[in-house]
Amino acid sequence: MAEPLLKVRDLSLTYWRRTGLFGRGSQAIQALNDVSFELNAGETLGIVGESGCGKSTLARCLLRLLRPSNGSIQFDGVDLLALNADDMRQMRQRMQIVLQNPFASLNPRLKGFDLIAEPLRTHAAMTRETMKDRVAALLTEVGLSLDFMNRHPHQLSGGQAQRIALARALALNPAFVILDEPTSALDVSVQAQIINLLIRLQRQRRLTYLFITHDLSVIQHISDRIAVMYLGKIVEETSSEEVFAHPQHPYTQALLSSTPAPDPKSDRQRIILAGTVPSALNPPPGCSFHPRCPQVMDRCRTLRPELRWTSADHRVSCHLFDALE
Ligand code: SF4
Repeated sequence: MAEPLLKVRDLSLTYWRRTGLFGRGSQAIQALNDVSFELNAGETLGIVGESGCGKSTLARCLLRLLRPSNGSIQFDGVDLLALNADDMRQMRQRMQIVLQNPFASLNPRLKGFDLIAEPLRTHAAMTRETMKDRVAALLTEVGLSLDFMNRHPHQLSGGQAQRIALARALALNPAFVILDEPTSALDVSVQAQIINLLIRLQRQRRLTYLFITHDLSVIQHISDRIAVMYLGKIVEETSSEEVFAHPQHPYTQALLSSTPAPDPKSDRQRIILAGTVPSALNPPPGCSFHPRCPQVMDRCRTLRPELRWTSADHRVSCHLFDALE
């Protein structure tokens, strides 16, 4: 069996915040806590969780825009944390990111041609004619006509701008694309079009995706596997089918209960969670989900649950599964 394209082991990131009079004290903020997963070439891992759970911090660590405090990241057999700045810059050609708000990531002064050609100018030597052909091919690939070469971002709809951002991300033929909430700023009908486009591009180019979202229903059809994050940790990970059919962690069950049921006659009960994700500055002891958990037990308040395998394909971090150990 082929090696995974991406192997992440025990990734942690702790920030230190100055506190007290004259900033003499300091307080740790655990943004990521022992995050481990693997991702095979051509597959999609969905990362889901509420705002503040660490999913975007994880994305920035993978691209080494943030330096983790601990752990390792292997991409295509290369230890990313051991690369020098020049080698990492080269490596980023193979690792791209598409952000939630395309208008924030596209230079408003540039037209479509220059927006897409910019990475080609920086990293690939080619004539203007060849570049024009490449930009035209990329526009066609993302479903836009060649007229879009001459449009500025303010002349685009949200969906069109996200297609330009995708064409730009694909310009250097990456192997791996991080999709950080790429549809959450779009109308529902446009969301579906962009998801279908992403699925088609993945098949045609054998792309590997890490798809970050707060909405489980968005990633149901695109993800092979799903990891659920809460307060900097993965609390459940398994195949997409298994998450939707047999969610084990109470937090996953609550997230799932808020998505539309495939069968309108199903008796799926909405689980309303109290409060919001606690601050990473002051995480609850024991299981960090315990103040909001509908199934909390005494030991949850003091004992931190391990992320353990409950079957060959399913990991969960919850004391409800201690007996399976
Ligand atoms: Fe709920 Fe306890 Fe499981 Fe945490 S360990 S999710 S508090 S049952």
